[in-house]
Amino acid sequence: MISKILVIEDDNKIVNFMTMALKAKGYSILTAKCGNEGILSFCTENPDIILLDLGLPDMDGVEIIKQVRQVSEIPIIIVSAREQDSDKIAALDAGANDYVTKPFSMGELLARIRVMERLIEREIGHLPETVYKFDYLIVDCDKHRIFVDETEVHLTPIEYKLLLLLIANRGKVVTHSQISKEVWGYGETGDSKSIRVFMASLRRKIEKDSSSPRFILTEIGVGYRFADE
Ligand code: CA
Repeated sequence: MISKILVIEDDNKIVNFMTMALKAKGYSILTAKCGNEGILSFCTENPDIILLDLGLPDMDGVEIIKQVRQVSEIPIIIVSAREQDSDKIAALDAGANDYVTKPFSMGELLARIRVMERLIEREIGHLPETVYKFDYLIVDCDKHRIFVDETEVHLTPIEYKLLLLLIANRGKVVTHSQISKEVWGYGETGDSKSIRVFMASLRRKIEKDSSSPRFILTEIGVGYRFADE
């Protein structure tokens, strides 16, 4: 769900108008008046989506998209007065998800935000069934509860996301870069060392013998595979 929106925009009037309208819809708003402030806010405040102006006093918005995309898949909607196709293409190629041209109606912007919201939900909710049972392991996605031999085990949010990702792709190899992208939201930059650390702690919790795993198998040099049979 999108709840925290970062607005990077140097025009006070537009900032005030957007802030008012978005707050009225229940979103919480962070604002930044220039690119550096925006990047800092993105790094420290963990927003759910970025609304980005392209013409900023200290840098071009496309530069911000590039920097953010090195570390995150957060949705970015461009809100810009530039209406040339070439500007839109440059922003989308750099990794923006959508483009709204000024002057815009708040109704349209809200609808675009909802589209992003649905995309995020679809990604998270790619497990259709509610309760999985594999041998002695029970995963109740609805209640976020995991049982090993009917004893509940507690996973951290990252361990839980890892497990769900593997189950959603059960029988298939999930590569290190897929894992870092899906679980941490990074691109190709994810490091396999931290994945290994989280995978080891997940195994200790759900495997009866983590040195000889029943469920989470290592595909050396490639990734991991959830064995469902
Ligand atoms: Ca501007």
